[in-house]
Amino acid sequence: MQILDGKKLSQKIIEHITLENIKLKEHYGITPGLAVILVGDDPASHTYVKMKAKACKEVGFYSIVHEMPESITQEKIEETIILMNQNPNIDGILVQLPLPKHINTTKILELIDPAKDVDGFHPYNFGRLMQGLDTFAPCTPLGVMELLKEYNIKPKGLDACVVGASNIVGKPMAALLLNAFATVDICHIYTKDLQSHTKRADLLVVGVGKPKLITADMVKDGAIVVDIGINRLEDGRLVGDVDFENVSKKASYITPVPGGVGPMTIAMLLQNTLKAAKKRIQD
Ligand code: NAD
Repeated sequence: MQILDGKKLSQKIIEHITLENIKLKEHYGITPGLAVILVGDDPASHTYVKMKAKACKEVGFYSIVHEMPESITQEKIEETIILMNQNPNIDGILVQLPLPKHINTTKILELIDPAKDVDGFHPYNFGRLMQGLDTFAPCTPLGVMELLKEYNIKPKGLDACVVGASNIVGKPMAALLLNAFATVDICHIYTKDLQSHTKRADLLVVGVGKPKLITADMVKDGAIVVDIGINRLEDGRLVGDVDFENVSKKASYITPVPGGVGPMTIAMLLQNTLKAAKKRIQD
């Protein structure tokens, strides 16, 4: 069994982006800029945003966090997005999800200029992703693809199973694997017999949010197992959706939690922001 080390790969990518950033500044006077909109007091959201801002600083990007209270109106968030769409120093706009219940999230995400949609959540970019066109792919599934590439794992022809079908994790993950010519099975909360699907998979990708959802008896011998889930246990430990201790004995490759997909997500956000900033050269 080999560990798919997202921490190590993300560091390598961050070093590469730092160098690219220096070149961009030297040759074109461009500093990539990321604007983050953070609404409310959810501790996990605050932690993620802090990590994203820190990563921007590390590679030398400009970043700004628009912090808003839980009671903010739809109009105020929309006004901020419109301003960021127009701001020439901002290449990427990210709205930290989830938003409060009174906010229409779809409307907010659709207002982001698709050319600045570094999270890849805009339906325009999602449509392009489904069609296999150049786009901003959502950072988490994109990070999984990069991790597989690093370890020379080719999805082509593999039986893949994606457990979890959200718009930001499962669905784009399935699209990327399909575009890479895997045969993709997508499972969700209403899947009748989850084990019958997971057990067939050469490549099992899980993004649900339930500790130990995937146990060793649900995994094929020698499978490649990617755990996207992040769950905080009562004792404070972070775990994924896969019973790592037992599944790792059967898998050929497996991602740890933490240190697997999580750091790759941040690295891909930086990569997408750099890509967005490079569009300034062509314009
Ligand atoms: P979500 O709640 O939007 O979606 C969960 C999906 O899992 C749904 O499609 C649901 O149908 C499915 N599901 C729920 N229970 C199930 C069950 N018993 N069997 C099969 N499917 C089931 O969550 P999300 O935003 O997609 O996030 C999923 C997980 O990934 C969470 O743990 C989240 O913290 C994690 N996540 C990690 C990263 C990262 O950087 N590693 C990024 C985003 C999300």
